[in-house]
Amino acid sequence: MGKARRKDKEGGDSGASSDSKLYLEAAVLERKLPELDMRLLVELPAGLDYNEWLASHTMALFDHVNLVYGTISEFCTITGCPDMTGPGQRMYLWFDEKGKKTRVAAPQYIDYVMTFTQKTISDETIFPTKYANEFPSSFESIVRKIVRLLFHVIAHLYAAHFKEVWLLGLHAHLNLTFTHLTALHHRFSLIEPKETEVLRDLEIALHLCDDVNHESATCSDSADLDSKESDSKTHCIEDAASGETRS
Ligand SMILES: [Zn+2]
Repeated sequence: MGKARRKDKEGGDSGASSDSKLYLEAAVLERKLPELDMRLLVELPAGLDYNEWLASHTMALFDHVNLVYGTISEFCTITGCPDMTGPGQRMYLWFDEKGKKTRVAAPQYIDYVMTFTQKTISDETIFPTKYANEFPSSFESIVRKIVRLLFHVIAHLYAAHFKEVWLLGLHAHLNLTFTHLTALHHRFSLIEPKETEVLRDLEIALHLCDDVNHESATCSDSADLDSKESDSKTHCIEDAASGETRS
């Protein structure tokens, strides 16, 4: 995915750059749907199969992340993004099939994520579309993995490429995709709080944390994180050193 063209545009905005977060500025905090709609959108309709519901949202999230990343992928290069970074100096390590942690450049990591996801959602034994086929017992854990990996891509887009996303007018779309993933996660507890904490400030800025009655306490955590910002930053750096992704 990482195209090597237009090297003149890369560099400055890539990687863990300055502390000021463009994506937290009021002017860019728009998104396409109000939050209430998004919460209703992820609520499991009566009579609908839970796995079916998870499958459709996972596929929609994949499409949207793929779309936004595909648009800016020429700016995400091995030289500009030698590591797979997220906000707060978070670094994601790829786990290969043998479970070995590998440090890979962001475009490589994202290519692995997209290839894995595409392959998985196209696999009739995992994401069945035919009437007679059933979801495997491991389906939910596979969805959790996909959602976590897509979250990493979103985190990288915010941390390293938000300016390009914004200049292309895709920031509202990225915010909506993040809102969708967050709403789905709040409703069904799909990823661990230590994963999502790197974008907690954005969750708060986009008002995604109000009145969440479901599980996970992600949003009550957020108040603590907000008041202990320096602490949480330290944690992120520690996490980065040990690598926090698991297969
Ligand atoms: Zn990048």
